[in-house]
Amino acid sequence: MKAVQYRAIGSAPEVVTVPDPEPGPGQVLLKVTAAGVCHSDIAVMSWSKEELPYELPLTLGHEGVGTVEAVGEGVTGLATGTSVAVYGPWGCGSCVKCAQGKENYCLRAGELNINPPGLGRPGAIAEYLLIDDPRHLVPIGDLDPVKTVPLTDAGLTPYHAIKRSLPRLGAGSTAVVIGTGGLGHVGIQLLRAMTSARVIALDVSEEKLALARRVGAHETVLSDEKAAGRVRELTGGLGAQAVFDFVGANSTLATAAACAAVESDLNLVGIAGGTMPIGFGQPAYEVSVNSSYWGSRSELFEVIELARTGVLDVHTETFSLDEAPRAYELLHEGKINGRAVILP
Ligand code: NAD
Ligand code: ZN
Ligand code: ZN
Repeated sequence: MKAVQYRAIGSAPEVVTVPDPEPGPGQVLLKVTAAGVCHSDIAVMSWSKEELPYELPLTLGHEGVGTVEAVGEGVTGLATGTSVAVYGPWGCGSCVKCAQGKENYCLRAGELNINPPGLGRPGAIAEYLLIDDPRHLVPIGDLDPVKTVPLTDAGLTPYHAIKRSLPRLGAGSTAVVIGTGGLGHVGIQLLRAMTSARVIALDVSEEKLALARRVGAHETVLSDEKAAGRVRELTGGLGAQAVFDFVGANSTLATAAACAAVESDLNLVGIAGGTMPIGFGQPAYEVSVNSSYWGSRSELFEVIELARTGVLDVHTETFSLDEAPRAYELLHEGKINGRAVILP
């Protein structure tokens, strides 16, 4: 089959032919119908040999939707042809976090060398994808694979972060979204669907801000050193009750900290590697700062249920498998509006 692989440190991804995978006992083979392209892959491909925790070559893609092609011995109750979304942050399935559905925080994944598809294990940007256990699959019925596949990460990750901040986001509150790309543009929609907060979106280009407004941001602000001041103005000097940083650079964290109201949440999702100073009254009093990784299994079911109600309008740009390296280039250059989705 064809697959898109990251093969050598610092090189561009390549379309290659690899052996067709076959499901072993307990496994499920999916025919991939759509695979998402996440900025985290760009980060992975920028890491040095010492920083990269995965073996190469690595088939990319940790957002996947497919149809059940074949099941391994012992797998029952999963009909061939069923359309499913893949829950990516695989865990051991038996520790207390996994028992809670929080496989993203599995206590034993490191020790047992369990990795998500596309982030250690062969990923979804290929014709077929091997799944270790049917519990990683969420049936999506007749939902469009292209519009649904970003929900497995670009939807689930903001959903988890927002859910945590719901108590802050009552009537009259403000939420700030920094970075309105793949995750951010879904995050804005989730905030609109799940809260009554006023949403202020920040990004570096007018094109991204136009998408932010289209998907429901009440206000948009160019992300520069004046952005936090503008957010303060828009909130009568108070700042925001929840800030979501989908970039995570020093500059965006500085903005996030300067936007955060007294008794607010500062949620760091982007992995650009920035840090922020914390001291007495800095950021404001009683700001809770947290970083989060992906979301739980049950939250993916919730996101898919939300999508079924029709309130999400995920913006996608589609590419063939052969064009996947180009999709990564465009994402790297900041030229993808919404999410790039590969159609194998
Ligand atoms: P993306 O490239 O689609 O979106 C990033 C957006 O940020 C773009 O619109 C870009 O224009 C904007 N941006 C860049 N610099 C900015 C700045 N200084 N101020 C404001 N906006 C700026 O990326 P994505 O796939 O949505 O991922 C976003 C981030 O989240 C990445 O760092 C990614 O690695 C990370 N991520 C984290 C998790 C997690 O579990 N924590 C999961 C998925 C992705
Ligand atoms: Zn991702
Ligand atoms: Zn576990």
